[in-house]
Amino acid sequence: MLLDRYVLGPAGGNSGRGRAHIAFTDRHGGYSEDPYDFNLARHVGDQETAVAQNRALLAQALGATPESFVFLRQVHGARVALADDALLASDELTSSLREADAVVAARSDVRLTILTADCAPVLLADPAAGVIGAAHAGRPGMLAGVVPATVAAMRDLGAERIEAVIGPTVCPRCYEVPAAMREEAAGIEPVCASVTWEGTPAIDVAGGVAEQLTRHGVPLRWSRHCTVEDAALFSHRREGTTGRQAAVIWLEH
Ligand SMILES: [Zn+2]
Repeated sequence: MLLDRYVLGPAGGNSGRGRAHIAFTDRHGGYSEDPYDFNLARHVGDQETAVAQNRALLAQALGATPESFVFLRQVHGARVALADDALLASDELTSSLREADAVVAARSDVRLTILTADCAPVLLADPAAGVIGAAHAGRPGMLAGVVPATVAAMRDLGAERIEAVIGPTVCPRCYEVPAAMREEAAGIEPVCASVTWEGTPAIDVAGGVAEQLTRHGVPLRWSRHCTVEDAALFSHRREGTTGRQAAVIWLEH
């Protein structure tokens, strides 16, 4: 169910104040039928009731209520939403407030959640300032600058020392693209031009994200899991119709 957890901010101490927590899920241990299993997305053809049960299971595993999770309607763009009362009251599937590929918050009662199956989930925090962010960066989002936009939105909320964790992503060895697409991407983010295991043109999405974070002064950690190569993870590239794993970030009360 849970693949990895991270803590950002000072270690130890009596109070959790000043820390942010991150969790990444895998595909196992859920209520959904094959190929969905522990799928957490409502838009991929899975049964609504099973997704709701899976989300309740995730909330229980993280010691939270299902209502505290903020899900977006991800569209491969660069819009950053603010997790304020209006957004929390909006409908996940229909509200334009939720049509975004990143979300930021300066409150500890929300769990910002990104769903992926190859794209890079990027979780960010300045725990001391009490500001968190979460971004969905596939190839189009990375090239459109969703991650720098998230960093900027967090700084607008008072974040100064932001740290980031890049979650499980399709690696460049597994992400073949047409040569023209690699050329176009390299014109925007040169570091993302890469090569597959077979020697054909590829794009390194997470590498592009890492470069953008570094350029904006954000230190990062990076999951070593490739979604295509790790059978414990959902991969749209490998499977086509499949579920979505979650990347979640929240502030400790
Ligand atoms: Zn790979």
